[in-house]
Amino acid sequence: MPSLDPRAPLVLDTRELSRRPGSQREVTRTVPAPADLGIEVLAVPEGSPVDLDLRLEAVMEGVLVTGTARTVLAGECVRCLEPITDPDVVEVDARFQELFVYDDDARRGEPDPDDGTRSMEGDLLDLEPVLRDAVVLGLPFQPLCREDCPGLCVECGARLADDPDHHHDEPIDPRWQALTTLRPDGD
Ligand SMILES: [Zn+2]
Ligand SMILES: [Zn+2]
Repeated sequence: MPSLDPRAPLVLDTRELSRRPGSQREVTRTVPAPADLGIEVLAVPEGSPVDLDLRLEAVMEGVLVTGTARTVLAGECVRCLEPITDPDVVEVDARFQELFVYDDDARRGEPDPDDGTRSMEGDLLDLEPVLRDAVVLGLPFQPLCREDCPGLCVECGARLADDPDHHHDEPIDPRWQALTTLRPDGD
């Protein structure tokens, strides 16, 4: 497994805590969003700012990280495909708490399959997977531009929110539609 890069924006150095239980450090930093921070339809654009407010606290087994991440998502409404601007959807204020245990045993960085804890690499810890989990957990699977988005016209694709009276003068008669789907080789 590659070692952590101490200069990486989401790698934190806990040396100042000296592994003394009770010692604490506040960290406030703005980092560029890593790639794929989000889900397919709603994500933080890579490189856009993520504001982190963290408290690192040494405990017996390791370092407890408590914090918030604030950032802004970009995505499209799953009904009408317009960019989403609703602040309730795109503004993220994710809270998280994670214990990173000292890596005195061989585990490095990976969550322990038994209890889910993550381990440190020496004095370094990697916040990226924690940030990713915290942001993704709060996302709606079907983001909408507004709760009652009427979506698109099924016949022509027009955006119904722009044109509430939208209709087609000659809707296809359902009886004729049934005929058009009959196939010569059908049953
Ligand atoms: Zn919409
Ligand atoms: Zn239409």
